[in-house]
Amino acid sequence: METTTKYVFVTGGVTSSLGKGIISASLARLLQSRGYSVTIQKLDPYLNVDPGTLNPYEHGECFVTEDGAETDLDLGHYERFLNTFTSQANNVTSGRIYQSVINKERKGDYLGKTVQTIPHITDEIKRRVKFLGTKQKFDVVITEIGGTVGDMESLPYIEAVRQMKYELGGNNSLVVHLTLVPYLAAAGELKTKPTQHSVKILLENGIQPDVLVLRTEKSLSIDIRKKVALFCNVESDAVVESLDVSTIYEVPLRMKDEKLDQTVLRKLDLPLKKDPELKIWTEFLDKVKNPKKEVNITLVGKYTELPDAYKSIIESFVHAGAANECKVRLKMLNSERINESNVAELLADTKGIVVAPGFGSRGIEGKLIAVKYVRENNIPFLGICLGMQCAVIEFARNILGLTEANSTEMDRHTAHPVIDLMEGQKGIVEKGGTMRLGAYPCKLTKKSRVHSTYGKEDISERHRHRYELNNSYRSLLEEAGMKATGINPDSQLVEIVEIPSHKWFVGVQFHPEYKSTVLNPHPLFVDFIKAAIGE
Ligand code: GLN
Repeated sequence: METTTKYVFVTGGVTSSLGKGIISASLARLLQSRGYSVTIQKLDPYLNVDPGTLNPYEHGECFVTEDGAETDLDLGHYERFLNTFTSQANNVTSGRIYQSVINKERKGDYLGKTVQTIPHITDEIKRRVKFLGTKQKFDVVITEIGGTVGDMESLPYIEAVRQMKYELGGNNSLVVHLTLVPYLAAAGELKTKPTQHSVKILLENGIQPDVLVLRTEKSLSIDIRKKVALFCNVESDAVVESLDVSTIYEVPLRMKDEKLDQTVLRKLDLPLKKDPELKIWTEFLDKVKNPKKEVNITLVGKYTELPDAYKSIIESFVHAGAANECKVRLKMLNSERINESNVAELLADTKGIVVAPGFGSRGIEGKLIAVKYVRENNIPFLGICLGMQCAVIEFARNILGLTEANSTEMDRHTAHPVIDLMEGQKGIVEKGGTMRLGAYPCKLTKKSRVHSTYGKEDISERHRHRYELNNSYRSLLEEAGMKATGINPDSQLVEIVEIPSHKWFVGVQFHPEYKSTVLNPHPLFVDFIKAAIGE
C-alpha cells in the first residue's frame, strides 16, 4: 500500500483505566514538538453510535468538537495536549461502524455478497483509520483502541490492526501496548506475568507489539525490563516505564526521559528532526506543581460522584490556575444537597462558584439557591450552559418577581418560559446528535466584562444544548441589570449574560471548557480565577 503517513496503534492490556489516552496524547505531543504533524483517533468498541446518548455516570463527559461531533472524553485530552482541533473522524464507535455497513447493505452496495464481520466490518474500520492519514495528510496518525485486549467486543479492531500492519508493511506502522505491572506489597515484588499474558493474547490474534509501556507504581529495575523484553519479544529499549505521577501533564516529560518518541521514530524509520520543543510546557508544569497561592472554587452539579463527568471543566481550572500561578482547589458539590438553610455554610469558604452543564430537572432547585447566594453576596460566578440558564431563571424569579419563571425543559407549562426550546428544536424526536452542536460565532458587546476578558469582539465557541434564553424576556432582564453581552450574529440567540454591577457574574450558553488547552488557557476561566483571588 502506497502511503507517506505512518500509523501507530495503541492497545491496552491487563485492566482498563491505565491511561491509554494520556500515553497517546503524550507521544503525540512529543512527536509534534519535534516538528511532525500528528493526530490521534479513538476507536470505541461499544454499540452507541456516539457517546452523546450516554449518561455521564456511564462514560464520563461527552466532549464536543468544532464540527459538532459528540465524542469520547479522551478527545479532550488530545486537544488539550496538542492544541489542535479534532473532528468527527477522530472518534469512531462500533455502533457507527455497524451503522454504515448496514446502511450500505440496505443500499445494495454489497449486492449478492454475504455481509460479515470479516471483511466488511474490518474494512470499514481500516477505511476510517486511513481516512485521517490520506484525506487530512498527517505525518503520523495515532489510533487508540478502546477497551482491553481479550475483550470480545474489541476483536474486530485488533484484526483490523493486524491487517493494516501487514498491508502497510515495513516501518510504516507499529503497535504500542500499555499494560500494568502490579506491585504485590505482601511479596514486596513487581509482577510481570499479567503483562506476559496480555502480550500472549495479542500474539494469539496475530499481533506482535513493537513497544510496551508498563504502568507501575514503583520504578522498574533493569532486570525487570530485560525479563519483559525477553518474554514478550520486544527490544529492551522498547520497554518503557510509566510511573504514577501527580499530574497528567507530567507524562510527556516522563515519556521523553524514557525516549518513547525516539524509539517510535526509529521503528517508523523517521528522522528525529530536532529535540522536542517543550519550553512552554515545562513552564506550565512548573506553575502547576509550585503554585504561589491557592483558591477554593466550588463546582455545583449533579454528577459530582464521578469527576470524569466534568473532565474538561476540571482541566480548564488546572490551565487557568497555572496562568494565575495559583492552585485551584475545586470542590464538587451535589446540588441536590443544597437548600436555603445550608447554602451559606456549604459555600462559606468558596471564592467562586461554577454551576455546571446538565440535563433534566433533578437538582435544579439547589442550583438556583446557589446562584441566588453568590449573586447576593457578590461572589464570582460562572454559569455554563444549564448554569447560565439557571442564572436567568433565578434573576427572573427573584429580581423581576416572576416567581413561576422556569425553563420549559423543567416545566413545560410554566407561566414564564424565560428559557425555552429553540425554534429549530421543535418537532425533533430523535435524541442522538440532534442538539445544537459544535462551533457557532458570537459577537460581544463593546466594553462588557466578556469583551475585556476575551480582548476582542468576535469569538467562536462550542455548543451542546436544546434550550435558549427566550428573547421576549431580554429587555425586561436588561432593564433590571442582567445584560445580554454575547449574541449570535446569525440567529440573534443570546449566548452570554452578565451582571455588570456584580464583582464577576457571567453565564455562557456555550461550553468554554472544550477549548481550554495547556498552550491556550481559556480567558473566561483565567479571568474568573483572577476575580476569585481578588486581582
Ligand atoms: N439542558 C439544557 C439544554 O438542553 C442545557 C444543556 C447543557 O448544559 N449542556 O439546553
